[in-house]
Amino acid sequence: MNKTVRLAGIAYESLVNGPGMRRVFFAQGCKHKCEGCFNPETHSFDGGEIMDMDKLIKDVLDNPMLKGVTFSGGDPIEQAHSFAYMAKAFKKANLNIWCYTGYTFEKLLELMKKNENIRMLLNNMDVLVDGRFEIMNRNEELKFKGSTNQRIIDVKKSLEYGNIIVIG
Ligand code: SF4
Repeated sequence: MNKTVRLAGIAYESLVNGPGMRRVFFAQGCKHKCEGCFNPETHSFDGGEIMDMDKLIKDVLDNPMLKGVTFSGGDPIEQAHSFAYMAKAFKKANLNIWCYTGYTFEKLLELMKKNENIRMLLNNMDVLVDGRFEIMNRNEELKFKGSTNQRIIDVKKSLEYGNIIVIG
C-alpha cells in the first residue's frame, strides 16, 4: 500500500477541533464546493503536500500531551484509504479520533457497503462531524461546527445501535 496522504496542513496542538489537545490533519481535496467555505485553498486535488503517514503517526505517538487526533479538510473521505490507515494506528494507541466531512452520515453508511476504506475509517473513529457548510445556517456560537445542519455524531454507538446518535 502507498503510505502517503495529501495534506493541506497540520495543526500541531489544537484545542478547537474536538475535546482536549489534538493533532489536526487537514486533508487536501474536496468536491463539495460549499458557499462561504473557510478553506477554499483545500479544494484542489493537486495542491497541498504529499506526506509520509508513518512519520506523521510516529510524531503523534511521541507527544504525550495529545489526547486525540482530528481529520479535517478539505474532505478526509476522499482519501479514505490513507485516513483509515492512520485511524487504525491511532486507535491502537487509544487516542480519540474525530473526523469532519461534507458528506452526511447516511451517505457514508451507503458508501461503506461498497468501499472497504470508508468502512475501515468509520470503524476506527469515535466522532464524525457531518454535512456541508450551509451559509444560510451559519452560527458562530456553535461549538465544533459551522452551521446548524451539521451534526456531531457518536459513530461507535451509531454503528452499534443502528441509529444515528447525535451528541451535539
Ligand atoms: S466540505 Fe468543508 S472544505 Fe469542502 S467545500 Fe464544504 S466547507 Fe469547504
